[in-house]
Amino acid sequence: MKAVQIQQTGGPEVLRYLDLPEPEPAPGQVVVSHRAVGVNFIDIYHRTGLYPRQTPFIPGMEAAGVITALGQGVRDFTPGQRVAYTGVFGAYGDSNAIPADKAVPLPEEVDFDTAAALMLQGMTAHYLVHDTHPVGPGQTILLHAAAGGVGLLVIQMAKALGARVIGTVSTPEKAALARSYGADEVIIYTSRDFTEAVNELTQGQGVDAVYDSVGQSTFQGSLGCLKPRGILVSFGQSSGIIPPFDPAQLGSHGSLYLTRPSLFHYIADRPSLMNRASQVLDMAATGALSVTIGARYPLDQAAQAHRDLENRQTVGKVLLIPE
Ligand code: NDP
Repeated sequence: MKAVQIQQTGGPEVLRYLDLPEPEPAPGQVVVSHRAVGVNFIDIYHRTGLYPRQTPFIPGMEAAGVITALGQGVRDFTPGQRVAYTGVFGAYGDSNAIPADKAVPLPEEVDFDTAAALMLQGMTAHYLVHDTHPVGPGQTILLHAAAGGVGLLVIQMAKALGARVIGTVSTPEKAALARSYGADEVIIYTSRDFTEAVNELTQGQGVDAVYDSVGQSTFQGSLGCLKPRGILVSFGQSSGIIPPFDPAQLGSHGSLYLTRPSLFHYIADRPSLMNRASQVLDMAATGALSVTIGARYPLDQAAQAHRDLENRQTVGKVLLIPE
């Protein structure tokens, strides 16, 4: 099969498009032939070595496709069945052998591109607003990178839960997109101090929660946007790692809470995965959730996809499409 492999960590150029052996299903596994592969910021952390992995490896943790082979002992799936998955490496290839308990059957109404967008980013948006900090009516939240893959989904879910959503983005075009998905206010944080803007927009009250995936460049400013006893949900670091932090700051900013969650702890077993995936897929199937596919690249253009994502050139979901 064709696949993208990383033999040493580094820049986008280390993503090498190669011929590799076809995957064979081990006992308990299924082979999925990919129709759409999700690109996520976490793939960049793996590529650069920020999140270390043993080399060589095929990156990518999200794909949708069709089951082509069953390993010994697999009874709940059939060849030809449409599924999607996350939480397993090896998505940047024509196909992948994955544990059957990671495969999520797809409703007819959900196409492969949408499914590939929802497994990692959709379930992330879902746990962030339902579980890490349950959002509800009367609350105001601040969401950084609001026009990104996770961002556009968080806007929609938080609005559906009744919150006021303030987003930050880097360009007027991204601001218009975030507004069109329901953001009440959007701050262009590359040209305006977002902490000041949030304090103006909330008449000095601050927000109940900040969802911060940008990290290094926003972390301190995010603390200054919170109400007393508000929560900073630090769930990523697209601008770089956050320097060491003194917890006394949580006290001086108003008895704040800080959490650093990861999707994989929120879908750690099969019932949790199926429960969350089915809620997100149902929202897409009924039209309650819209997915923007911002860019599609052929699988052999994975390096360009990474460059564009890292250079803040993308909106919504970025996909790789096998030939
Ligand atoms: P996005 O589509 O949101 O892309 C990242 C965005 O971050 C950019 O478009 C850009 O938006 C913003 N950004 C700000 N500063 C920088 C910078 N210096 N370099 C690059 N980007 C920057 O990506 P994803 O939706 O895939 O992921 C969003 C974040 O969520 C990532 O940090 C990811 O690691 C995290 N994540 C965490 C999970 C968890 O469970 N903890 C699960 C899934 C994702 P703008 O141009 O508007 O500033």
